[in-house]
Amino acid sequence: MADKKRIYLSPPHMGGRETEYIQEAFDTNWIAPLGPHVDAFERECAEAAGVKAALALSSGTDAVCLAARALDIRHGDPFFCSSLTFVASLAPLVQMGGVPVFIDSDPGSWNMSPQALERAFLDAEASGRTPKAVILVNLYGQPCDMNLLLPLCLKHGVPVIEDAAESVGSLYGGRPTGSFGKFGFYSFNGNKIITTSGGGMLLSDDEEAIAKARFRSTQARDPAPWYQHSELGYNFRMSNILAGIGRAQLKLLDDRVARRRAVFGRYREGLGDLPGVSFMPESPNSRSNRWLTTLTIDPGASGTTNLEVVDVLAAENIESRPVWKPMHLQPVFRDATYYRHDGDESRRLFETGICLPSGSNLSQEDQSLVIRLVREAFR
Ligand SMILES: *Cc1c(COP(=O)(O)O)cnc(C)c1O
Repeated sequence: MADKKRIYLSPPHMGGRETEYIQEAFDTNWIAPLGPHVDAFERECAEAAGVKAALALSSGTDAVCLAARALDIRHGDPFFCSSLTFVASLAPLVQMGGVPVFIDSDPGSWNMSPQALERAFLDAEASGRTPKAVILVNLYGQPCDMNLLLPLCLKHGVPVIEDAAESVGSLYGGRPTGSFGKFGFYSFNGNKIITTSGGGMLLSDDEEAIAKARFRSTQARDPAPWYQHSELGYNFRMSNILAGIGRAQLKLLDDRVARRRAVFGRYREGLGDLPGVSFMPESPNSRSNRWLTTLTIDPGASGTTNLEVVDVLAAENIESRPVWKPMHLQPVFRDATYYRHDGDESRRLFETGICLPSGSNLSQEDQSLVIRLVREAFR
């Protein structure tokens, strides 16, 4: 196996100009603290997302943490979150004492089910336990059904955190994701569609809220000649060197979306005829960046399973994964409340779903190999 080149799920894809920005940071000795690349990257991300303000951070998880602080999540506060997601969508809220209530997926989008959300709101209203926040996750780049979900949150007066970590460059109704909630955020982790090696961006139209988050992200220092603190903050800022990488990457975003969508198109062409295979749908009114190509394999119809296919690919040094294990099935959340769509949709997606290698730098030759191996697993 050591002699076989590894094919990764979603590796970084540098464009070449990143080193020019890094060199500029070195030439001007803006290694720290912060610096002009950070300021520019924030402006450029705010513009790309169509929001008024942005805050560059060292991870997407930091952005969740600052959004939760802004919404004043405290011990015992309930909040709603998509069950089918990565734990970072909500971990900071739980660490602040928030109590998660998980909402199932809609089969049409794999994202939060509007009908399950509605039932959760009705119960919350009846018990007088209105959630402090709703976290909407654009899974694998697919925007949520905002036209149905946002009015429900608005009706109950609950602010939305839009987890656009995976959906940088995706559109809903022609509008960029990350701009739909009270707060939105991007991740530039190494596996995302564009990367700073590690980083995140908090987004909002509320400039005052971003200013407050900025204050908290730099240790909450009061305006005084000495170090004085009236509250406690964090050390969450992105470095000027990494922001330089981000600026170069952001310029490539349209190309990266086009490439990921092309990867998806080739998989659909190469695998779409197999029995029991269904690709993650692109919900109406949206344009997904197709961050990862994901599909489900029905064991009854196909004669194989998602895990068998993962193993077949792993034997050839190819990385693939089951879809996210839903939060309501996680040991750490075993006591949490969960609202199903109808059947337990997120569980079904987890038990049958697989993510295939989807890098924007995946060669057609490598992709053809993946397609051939998946087809063999079906025989
Ligand atoms: C990657 C990711 C995050 C967290 O971003 P980091 O930059 O890795 O902290 C949050 N939510 C989802 C859905 C993600 O995929």
